[in-house]
Amino acid sequence: MPALTGRKALITGASRGIGRAIAEAFAREGAALALVATGTDKLAATAARCSELGAAAVHTFGLDVRNSADCDAVVKQAAEKLGGLDIVVNNAGVTRDNLLMRLSDEDYNTVLDTNLRGTFNITRSATRSLMKSKCGRVINVASVVGVVGNAGQANYAASKGGVIAFTKAVAKELAGRGVTAHVIAPGCIDTDMTAGLDAKVKEEALKGIYLSRFGKPEDIAAAALFLAGESGSYVTAQVLIVDGGMTA
Ligand code: NAP
Repeated sequence: MPALTGRKALITGASRGIGRAIAEAFAREGAALALVATGTDKLAATAARCSELGAAAVHTFGLDVRNSADCDAVVKQAAEKLGGLDIVVNNAGVTRDNLLMRLSDEDYNTVLDTNLRGTFNITRSATRSLMKSKCGRVINVASVVGVVGNAGQANYAASKGGVIAFTKAVAKELAGRGVTAHVIAPGCIDTDMTAGLDAKVKEEALKGIYLSRFGKPEDIAAAALFLAGESGSYVTAQVLIVDGGMTA
């Protein structure tokens, strides 16, 4: 039987990159899916692919995770359509890189509001459903930058470090209800987020990666699948670094 048969998962940032790969991996394992992103065109393409791959059901929602009232409404609708929620993957995220001296309030707030507040909004909205599930899982996609920092990314580092601390608190708070909470901290992954990096920056980053390549979205999806299924049921409050050895 596919590993996620009977499981209902909500995934944010599912239109592209890592979120799309996670959605496809969960679809292959028979999960029923609620897919979230701001734009719905690319989301529709992800949904169509997930149906082909074997998802038990697929629903899409255009949502800005920064808006808490909208998060409440979408999570409620998703739980109604799927008949509950077992897994929440907070993956939606943005960067607005700049040196600290030049970092604007707007760029600081956009990154913190999307990456950290968005994770809080969705997790809070889903808590009641997750507690009702017999196998509740929160899977938050942070970054190695939230563990070790990075010059030019103070806002992003603060947001992802916050996601890590937030997840550990959630793991403690919900453990008594059988809900686990995890962080996946990717290194450099080939997606739209890294596509615009300067060739020299990429070359320099590659020198520090033991496995001498950027990761693929599927590398992160494999980690998410492990944590989401029965295989990950005795793992909680951990930060799973998937970075090819970049921070080792
Ligand atoms: P991506 O290709 O840029 O995709 C970002 C996704 O987030 C898109 O689906 C986007 O939706 C969604 N999103 C952005 N802002 C949103 C908002 N306010 N509300 C709802 N959805 C929103 O990024 P990615 O590389 O796959 O990154 C996914 C996650 O992994 C992020 O949290 C990122 O920080 C983290 N990460 C990435 C890397 C990397 O090297 N790529 C490394 C470490 C961590 P739309 O398509 O509608 O804009």
